[in-house]
Amino acid sequence: MGEVVTVLGPIPEEHLGVTDAHDHLFLRSPALPGQDFDDVDKAVEELGGAASGGLQAVVEVTPIGLGRRPAKMRALSEATGVHIVAATGYHRDAHYEEGHWVRVASVEILAERILADLQRGMHPEDWLTDAPLDSARAGVIKSGASYQRISAREERRLIAAAIGTRETGAPILVHTEIGTCGHEIIDLLTREGVNPGRIILAHLDRNPDFELHAEIAARGVTLEYDTPGRIKYRPDSQLIDLVDAMVRAGHEGALMLGLDLGQRDYFRSYGGGPGLGYLMDSFVPRLRRRVGDDAIRKILVDTPARAFAMSPQ
Ligand SMILES: [Zn+2]
Repeated sequence: MGEVVTVLGPIPEEHLGVTDAHDHLFLRSPALPGQDFDDVDKAVEELGGAASGGLQAVVEVTPIGLGRRPAKMRALSEATGVHIVAATGYHRDAHYEEGHWVRVASVEILAERILADLQRGMHPEDWLTDAPLDSARAGVIKSGASYQRISAREERRLIAAAIGTRETGAPILVHTEIGTCGHEIIDLLTREGVNPGRIILAHLDRNPDFELHAEIAARGVTLEYDTPGRIKYRPDSQLIDLVDAMVRAGHEGALMLGLDLGQRDYFRSYGGGPGLGYLMDSFVPRLRRRVGDDAIRKILVDTPARAFAMSPQ
């Protein structure tokens, strides 16, 4: 059995428990003006509420340069008892202003900083200063591609992520824009020596195309759906139909769920919704009635434990 690296240290993968596989506790991005969130008390309220609904772990995929907060994540995990897996790596182009070091850095620098975050501790100020590294290590590598294309800069960042995985066995979670470029991302990462079992594709439910998802699952990649409760995209009923179709086709071991609350307006504590409690309080009970306990345990517990455990290639 492998270990999952949380902000409070490594744990055996079987201790991870019920996991929200994609969320945000602290974030700021030039692509989301006025939507930043950074308040520890509000985060304790959100995560504590989710924990009372049964959530035991959250994968916090705010990457380098978007306001990730290692010390605050440690405090939050201590206050709520919820395991937090933090991210290194980089987002797609839109989240970095012109001139940001992430846009211009070489593959070597990009990879070196990923490796430091994974092996020594996360940089508390996203490598903008020479501050000492935090005690919290990252446990997952974030990456990202644009809508319908992987830009040259995104390709450099994906190659750096692949180096991080080759050296440490860390999983790579890749943002797909509206679910596009899934096969292209897998092609690129496997070309760079990454085992498909280390690849997680996020937001595929933005393009709820069952046949495409079944093809991706058949390549040995983990799919992560994260629009429950975000009604602007589609009703939950359609997402439940999609999960049900995947389970019936035998792909229940390839799926994970998250909420991806990446804006202030998505949190109850900031006056919006659906809030971090939505997954366990509203969506999962409804999904459980459709797909049953066995599939729910795979989606929320077994697959996250496998997907997020460090696994030497
Ligand atoms: Zn996200």
